[in-house]
Amino acid sequence: MTAAARTKSWNRLAAVERLRAETFDVLVVGGGITGAGVARDAALRGLTVALVEAGDWAAGTSSRTTKLAHGGLRYLEQLDFGLVRTALAERAVLLSIAPHLTRAAPFLLPLYTGRSMPAWELEAGLWLYDALAGAHRLGRHRVLDTGAAFEREPELSPAGLRGAGLYWDARVLDARLVIETIADARRAGAVAVSYCSVEDLERWRGGWAAEVHDRRSGDAFTLRAGSCVAAVGPWSDRLRRRVAPAREPLLSPTRGVHCVVHHSRLPLRDPTALFARDRRIYFAVPDGAWTYIGTTDTDMGGDVSDLSAPEPDVRYLVEATGDALARPIGIGDVVGAWAGWRPLVRASRRKDPGAISRDDVIERTAPGFITVAGGKLTTYRAMAEEAVDRLVEEAGLESGPCITARRPLVPAGLGGEGPAPASDPEAVARARSLFGPDADDVFARWRDDPASAEPLGADFPYTAAEVGRAAREMVETLDDLVDRRLLALPGGVPIARDTLGRIADAAAPELGWSPGRQSMEIAAFRTGADRWPARADAGRSRTHAGV
Ligand SMILES: Cc1cc2nc3c(=O)[nH]c(=O)nc-3n(C[C@H](O)[C@H](O)[C@H](O)COP(=O)(O)OP(=O)(O)OC[C@H]3O[C@@H](n4cnc5c(N)ncnc54)[C@H](O)[C@@H]3O)c2cc1C
Repeated sequence: MTAAARTKSWNRLAAVERLRAETFDVLVVGGGITGAGVARDAALRGLTVALVEAGDWAAGTSSRTTKLAHGGLRYLEQLDFGLVRTALAERAVLLSIAPHLTRAAPFLLPLYTGRSMPAWELEAGLWLYDALAGAHRLGRHRVLDTGAAFEREPELSPAGLRGAGLYWDARVLDARLVIETIADARRAGAVAVSYCSVEDLERWRGGWAAEVHDRRSGDAFTLRAGSCVAAVGPWSDRLRRRVAPAREPLLSPTRGVHCVVHHSRLPLRDPTALFARDRRIYFAVPDGAWTYIGTTDTDMGGDVSDLSAPEPDVRYLVEATGDALARPIGIGDVVGAWAGWRPLVRASRRKDPGAISRDDVIERTAPGFITVAGGKLTTYRAMAEEAVDRLVEEAGLESGPCITARRPLVPAGLGGEGPAPASDPEAVARARSLFGPDADDVFARWRDDPASAEPLGADFPYTAAEVGRAAREMVETLDDLVDRRLLALPGGVPIARDTLGRIADAAAPELGWSPGRQSMEIAAFRTGADRWPARADAGRSRTHAGV
C-alpha cells in the first residue's frame, strides 16, 4: 500500500451511515488517548468497533498535557514504585511503536535552597528512577554542582542555586499520538467519527443502544453494540450517571494550566523541572519558537467543560518561574495559555481491585459496560489493554491476543522513508516528526511544486504541503487542523488573519471548502480558540463541545 492510499481523505458521511446501520461488538465512547487506545486494541484483537467523540479527537484533555512520556518523578516522593515502573516500561513502548512522535531528551532539575530537596535525596531519587527503568533506561543521570549547572543552563537564577540533576525522559506529540492511534484503529477496521456525542444509553438485547447526537449535521441516531467502554476522561461521572445513577462518583478532576512565552524570553536549552514555592514540581519546556510552562494543579471545583485558563493560575506560573530563572518574565510576556482537567481518581476509589495502578480505574459499571478513567497519557496503552481484557471477559467476546505493545503505530512496510528534498532541514525534521514515514507525501509535493515548500507566514513556518497532508486526518474545522493535527500554535498564540487565510487556502482542496466556508472557519478560529489575553469581544472562555 502506498502512503497516499493509507491517508486518503476522510469520508465522514459514509462513516456515520455505518454507525447507524451496523451493530458492533463494542462501542467506545470518547476520542482522547484512552478511547483511542481501547478502540485500537479491540479492533486489532478482531472485534468490530465503533468509536465516537463529542468534539474533535484529543480536544478534551489529551491535547492539553505537558507533552511528556515519563515515569513521573513526583510519584517517587509518594513511594509509588509500581506506578513509576509501569510508566517507564510504557515510555519504552511508546519510543518503540511511535519513534517519530516520542523523543528521548535530557531534563534538568535545578536545586534551590529552601525550595527543593537536599542533593542527596535528589541523587537517591534519580538513581531509583534509572533503576526502575531497568533495561528501558534512556541515559544515565548525573548530579551537577553549581558551576556545572550554570554551564549547562545559563538561564538559571544564581540566587540560592545549589546544583542540579540531569536525567533522561521523553517528550511526546500528545494530540498526534491520539490521531495516529485512531488511524491505526481504522486500519484494523474500527469505524471512528468525531463530533458525535452520546447523549444517553439504554440496554438493548443484552447489549447497549446509544442515543447519538451528530454535532455537525444536527441529526440524532441510535448506535447499537453488544458492549460499551466509556473512556470519557473527566466527563466519566456525567456519562456513568446515565447507566448507574446510584453509584458514588469515581473522579475528582483538577485543573492544570500551562502558559506560553516566546523562546527568546526564556531561551532554555533543555526541558527543566522547577520547584514552585509550595515545592510542587512543574516544567518549563523549550519548544521551537516557544517555551511553555506548566502545569498547575488546582482543586477548586468548576465545570470540566470550561477549558479557559484562569489568569491567577497563569500568574502563579510566571511568578514561580521568575523565582528560579535569571531572566525576569512577567504576565505581559505570556502569548498563549491552555488548560485541561486531570481525570483524577477519587482517593476512596483508588484501591479498585481491577486498576493496574492506584492512578486509574477500570470498573464494571453495568452488565457489558466498562468505565476506564484516570492514568496518564504515558500509560494509556497498558490501561487500554487491561480495559479490553476486562471487556472481553465481561461480555463473553471471542478475541485474539493484545498486540499493541509490539505493533508500530504506523505499521512497517506500509511506506518507506523516501529521500528528503534539499529543503530547510528544520522543515524536514518537523514533517518527519509529525507524519513519520508519511512525510514522504510532503516531500514528494515539495519536489513537484516548490511553492508548496514555502512557509505560509512569518508567524507560521508550516508549508502548504504539510497543511494539505494534515487536512486528510479527519479534520472538520480550522481549529482541528492547526491545534491538533499540526500542534502549531500552542495555547492559541496569536496569528495574522492573512496567514490564517493562506492556511485555509492550503487545506481547502483536501476538505472541499468553498471561499465562504473558508471565511467562516477563519472567523470561528479567531473567536472560538483560546486566545490570550482574554478579549472581551472574543468569547475566549472556551467550552468544550458542550458535553
Ligand atoms: C494539565 C495536564 C497535563 C498533563 N500532562 C501529562 C504529561 O505530560 N504526560 C502524561 O503522561 N500525562 C499527562 N496528563 C494526563 C493525561 O493528559 C490524561 O491522563 C489523558 O489525556 C486522559 O485521556 P482520556 O482519553 O482519558 O481523557 P480525554 O482526553 O479528556 O478524552 C475524553 C474524551 O471524551 C469525550 N466525551 C466526553 N463525553 C462524551 C460523550 N458523552 N460522548 C462522546 N464523547 C464524549 C470528550 O470530548 C473527550 O475528548 C496531563 C493532564 C493534564 C490535565
